[in-house]
Amino acid sequence: MAELANCPKCDSIFLKSAFRDVCEACFKEEEKLFEKVYNFIRKKENRTATMMQVVEGTGVTEDLIVKFIKAGRLKLAQFPNLGYSCEKCGTTIRDGKLCGACATQLKSQLSTFEKEELRKRDIQERNLKATYYTKGNK
Ligand SMILES: [Zn+2]
Ligand SMILES: [Zn+2]
Repeated sequence: MAELANCPKCDSIFLKSAFRDVCEACFKEEEKLFEKVYNFIRKKENRTATMMQVVEGTGVTEDLIVKFIKAGRLKLAQFPNLGYSCEKCGTTIRDGKLCGACATQLKSQLSTFEKEELRKRDIQERNLKATYYTKGNK
């Protein structure tokens, strides 16, 4: 669905859609940068470049390169050393938002939280029943 929005890069008003999150001018600029990254990385000697090396070699920011990766425009399968940082610990990852360790940790934290919630509800219910019981007995 398209809607008017301010371009996050230059603040001009543009028609935002699922495919376009910056204005026309910035989009064209991004396309240029994408070409630059792509031309750099597809060279044989750069196939094994790390994120740092790509940033240094192209002058394109890591954020934007990550955006290209997440949009599926840079296929990591072809570039064994390219990846981006886990949102929690900064380890280099190649898909999703978190590394395996952080994802597992988050999952176990979640289930601990869920168990705790269940336990609380259980206690509440028991208290509720106890109250009714006492009342009924009076
Ligand atoms: Zn813009
Ligand atoms: Zn992590």
